[in-house]
Amino acid sequence: MEGGGLPQGFEATPNNLEPFWMPFTWNRRFKEQPKLITGADGMHYTTHDGREVLDGTAGLWCVNAGHNRRRIVEAVQQQVAQLDYAPTFQLGHPLTFQLANQLVQMAPQGAFDHVFFANSGSEAVDSALKIAMAYHRARGQGERRRFIGRERGYHGVGFGGISVGGITNNRRMFAELPGTDHMRHTFDLKEQAYSRGQPDWGAHLADDLERMCALHGAETIAGVIVEPVAGSTGVLLPPKGYLQRLREICDKHGILLIFDEVITGFGRLGSGFAAEYFGVTPDIITLAKGITNGVVPMGAVMVREGIYDSVMAGAERGGGTIEFFHGYTYTGHPLACAAGLATLEIYKEEELFQRAARLAPVWEDALHNLKGTRHIKDLRNLGLIAGIELESRPDAPGQRGYDAFTRAWEKGLLIRVTGDIIALSPPLILDEGHIDRIFQTLKETLEETD
Ligand code: PMP
Repeated sequence: MEGGGLPQGFEATPNNLEPFWMPFTWNRRFKEQPKLITGADGMHYTTHDGREVLDGTAGLWCVNAGHNRRRIVEAVQQQVAQLDYAPTFQLGHPLTFQLANQLVQMAPQGAFDHVFFANSGSEAVDSALKIAMAYHRARGQGERRRFIGRERGYHGVGFGGISVGGITNNRRMFAELPGTDHMRHTFDLKEQAYSRGQPDWGAHLADDLERMCALHGAETIAGVIVEPVAGSTGVLLPPKGYLQRLREICDKHGILLIFDEVITGFGRLGSGFAAEYFGVTPDIITLAKGITNGVVPMGAVMVREGIYDSVMAGAERGGGTIEFFHGYTYTGHPLACAAGLATLEIYKEEELFQRAARLAPVWEDALHNLKGTRHIKDLRNLGLIAGIELESRPDAPGQRGYDAFTRAWEKGLLIRVTGDIIALSPPLILDEGHIDRIFQTLKETLEETD
């Protein structure tokens, strides 16, 4: 086990913890009772007080190949020693091209031919929305500027992402961009409770898109963005036939279909991408997280054949020295590319996606064995994802989830909670022993939670 212990000269006192404004965190509570991670290896984190915690969430859905992989560590070390940083505006370095080639080769249905790099899922989403607009404009349909997302969709925290996302707190706290609308989400407890895998009920919800086309005029809609499986808002699964139906409606109206695969990409469902798993080819795919195993931040957008060419052709007509007016200082950062290339090699050589597919039924059974455990209202799963919805305490919604998170942590298991829903997404290297331990610890946790 690597790590353990705090850096020399640093003590976890409230004063020392204060200046860091923590993201998506109950800051004041954390700083009174900090949970600090100081090392990681394989399936485990080490805490500052030297405890081992089983990683039930692959960090934040990203460490698909497990922690502290030598090959990735060495690739990044070698790269930083050779080329620490290079711009990719009107210049290039070889690794970006190599990684883009690899991604195109492994892309679903062989249908994607270009990759744009960003540094996070949020940036990938905003880039994807801009690409969709640029595509329509280049084809003389510049009036297509509207985007349709879904209730309870999560597409990161950029203004584009929160606008197409369907998270109430974003809506309450921040202004959103004009020109977005939202279909209903696909979850219905009455119809889908304890469904194993994809629910049978709910394909008709895709027809919300037809309503949006009628309401706004299909000719004003640039794209529809959905997570094939919504993760961050509590593991909401696509009903059988739902994504196929969305595809049909998009085709009918010339709307681009965007799959946000920031969570589902790189093996989470037991295939490279959810697009393959569901047999539906979108026009644009956003990626992040597992692309570098979480080691260096990176996001990416893969586009289907024709999109890049259209944008290039449109720009030719317009003249100028830049076809697509968008990019980041760190687009295709050498360290991220090095981490990405090493990560993809590991996925391939260790056949981790196949491993996830093999373990998915074991995972499903272990999850559904929790049925009847205290507080549980619903269990849902797909691939190596699980959602455990708890009855909320009427006096304090979210409190039970938070208590379960803290209690599980103390018992040596990392889970993720959104409100009163627990989400699990372990590294794909886990084995059956880890699965037993995750669900046994969870059972004990819930039995002891108020
Ligand atoms: N899209 C989806 C589907 C996500 O799950 C996330 C992160 N959980 C994002 C976008 C945003 O990614 P990031 O936090 O890297 O900006």
